[in-house]
Amino acid sequence: MTYNMHILTFDIEDWYNCDFISEDFNWDKYEVRIYEGVERILFELERRNQKGTFFCLGWIAEKHPDIIRQIHRQGHHIGCHSYQHELAFRFTKEQFIEDTLKSKYLIEDIIGEKVNAFRAPGFSITENNIWALEALSEMGFEYDCSLFPAEHDYGGFKSYGKSEPAKIILSNGAFIKEFPINIQKVFGKNIVFSGGGFFRFFPYCLIRFWAKQSPYIMTYFHPRDFDPCQPMIKSLPAMRKFKSYIGLKHSFSKFQHLLNDFDFVNIEQANEMVDWDNVRKIKL
Ligand SMILES: [Zn+2]
Repeated sequence: MTYNMHILTFDIEDWYNCDFISEDFNWDKYEVRIYEGVERILFELERRNQKGTFFCLGWIAEKHPDIIRQIHRQGHHIGCHSYQHELAFRFTKEQFIEDTLKSKYLIEDIIGEKVNAFRAPGFSITENNIWALEALSEMGFEYDCSLFPAEHDYGGFKSYGKSEPAKIILSNGAFIKEFPINIQKVFGKNIVFSGGGFFRFFPYCLIRFWAKQSPYIMTYFHPRDFDPCQPMIKSLPAMRKFKSYIGLKHSFSKFQHLLNDFDFVNIEQANEMVDWDNVRKIKL
């Protein structure tokens, strides 16, 4: 199948919701910037009548339910981004289910609808923890967006092959609809230009050039990607620090350019565009 599919997604977490800060998850003590960050995104999407998928952290749903309500009120599709932003492969299957269900139920209680889409923090569903996909199906998720279809610092899912949607057939015969991230080879390294640090780092003309050449684009923006005033986490390793804080000043205008130059859909709209009977199938 050939695609012309650009999917707009966001991971809704605050600047401190990451694995390098406060191992005890005592996150309450940090400056809350999520309201401002989400409002900036929602305002931009509303004036364009643009819909996205928002993968929300359960911790945010618990502490700041108004954020989830606001996103839902604007008619966006809401997914789950785990409860405490732990990498999926650091959990046992049982712990993964516990963390994910906690988040799923928190979000569902707020929006009054079933949550059917999931993205693991850091694309952390890899060939070493495929049980996570089975667990997601068992928990009632229809879509997964956690795979990095090449080698990655965290392992990746090289055998997935192409960056395009596929039906993953699980060992129990059930399936999950996968929308992976899209990757770009730069100097021999697989990178993601459609969100996060590399989106902020590379000039927009290059982002646009790569995007034009990609039949399938899966974006993943965070409120902090557009927040030049966020506090800096001093303890981050140098590379991570660079990736976290590069290009914050101009990233929002790059995002606006991207929305001008490409037509985007959310996961549910993308689902309608895929011929699931004839799509590539991957057996686990
Ligand atoms: Zn995240």
